[in-house]
Parts: sequence; structure tokens; C-alpha cells
Amino acid sequence: MNKQKIVIAIDGHSSCGKSTVAKDLAKALSIAYVDTGAMYRSVTLYALRHNLISNNQVDEAALIAALPHIKITFAFNAEQKKNETFLNGESVEAEIRQMEVSSHVSLVSTIGAVRKQLVEWQRDMGKEGSLVMDGRDIGTVVFPNADLKIFMTASDEVRAQRRYEELRQKGQAADFAEILHNVRERDRIDSTRAESPLRQADDALLLDNSNLSMQEQFDWIMTQLRNKKLID
Ligand code: C5P
Repeated sequence: MNKQKIVIAIDGHSSCGKSTVAKDLAKALSIAYVDTGAMYRSVTLYALRHNLISNNQVDEAALIAALPHIKITFAFNAEQKKNETFLNGESVEAEIRQMEVSSHVSLVSTIGAVRKQLVEWQRDMGKEGSLVMDGRDIGTVVFPNADLKIFMTASDEVRAQRRYEELRQKGQAADFAEILHNVRERDRIDSTRAESPLRQADDALLLDNSNLSMQEQFDWIMTQLRNKKLID
């Protein structure tokens, strides 16, 4: 690697494979990977468990008051060979991917004070060294000076189909129509919220992966890193 420290920001629509390609990049470059969606999902799980969400309304004051009691960490599970998300020391990796969390997370993510706190934690992680971080506001808000910014997308149907297959493979119940609705609804809320809405940063490169394999996406990003002389 040419540069001492590199920050790669990957933003984009729901379920377009950001985390898969981000994990592959982190592994190939031996740098850290941070899944910021998992952080918003963990806060949402906390809110659901503490009955702070009812009828699609979040008790914002109670959730904001609870933020100092929420600690989100990541660790590599050597046995399962994958990253795991921990909420106050408990592995919540499987639970935060379930529909109950998916269908409330965008609501929780509209709360300014929640975003402010998570952005602060994310910037702290960036102080430690090189990383690839994926989310919705990484290139626009968290790391506006990131060395490489990618904005990923794919058609709604392709994204819902991939998510459907992923859930089925994990043995979880999956309904295609419900997933397609959730993908569209999350994009709608994420793109129209007042606080740091999802948008392509002016200097982000667009990657539409509707017709690309994982390998092709990976190779495309590696080429961009080389073009920018960030790697040899
Ligand atoms: O990436 P993932 O789909 O797991 O993210 C779940 C949700 O968390 C998104 O739909 C969005 O509402 C929220 N999110 C966000 N900002 C981020 C990452 C995720 O608002 N940086």
C-alpha cells in the first residue's frame, strides 16, 4: 500500500451488496471494516426491546436518554469466520438482520441525536487506522475527506431478490413482496429525511451493480484505488 492510512467510504441504497464488497476489500487490503448499518440496527433493536417504538412512533426522548447506556462493538468470530455485532456485550448479529428490525431501522435513523452519536463513534473508529466503512452518509457526513468514495446501487427488484435469497439461505422466513416493499420504503425514508439524507457525494464514483458479479465489482473498486495511487 502506498499511503499510510486510507479511508474508503461506500454508500448506497439498501441491500445492494455494499457490505459484501466492503468486507472483501477489507480482507484484501488488511484494513478494518465497519458496518454502520449494523450500528443503526443495534440501536433499533435496543429500542424495540425496551418498548420505545409503538405504532411506528419512536419515543425519541427516552431513546436519546438511553444512548449513554448503549455500547456497540464488533468482533471477529473465528469459529464462524465472520464479523459479529455486539450490543452491550451480547452478540446480536442474527437478530439485527430480521424483518422486525429492518422495518423500523429507517425510522430510528431519522433521529438527529441518534445520528450525531453514531457519527461520533464512527469517526473515533477512523482515528485508529485505515478502514472501509459502509452506510448511507459516510462520504457526505462521516468522512467527507475519504480517499475513495463509492456510491452503489442496483435495480429495486435485483436488490430484493438478493436479500430474499440471503434470508432463505440462512433458513429465515422470507416473503419477496414484503422484502421489495421494505427495500423501497427504506430508500424512500433514507433519501428524504431531513438529517443527512442518503445522496451521492459530489466526488463519489457511481457503481451500478445490477449486472455485475461480486468479482467484477471488487475488481472495479481495486482499479479505482490503483488509479488514485492508493494501492500499488
Ligand atoms: O446498511 P443497512 O441496510 O444494514 O442499514 C440499515 C438502515 O440503517 C438503513 O436503511 C438506514 O435507514 C440506516 N443507516 C443510516 N446511515 C448509515 C447506515 C445505515 O441511516 N450510515
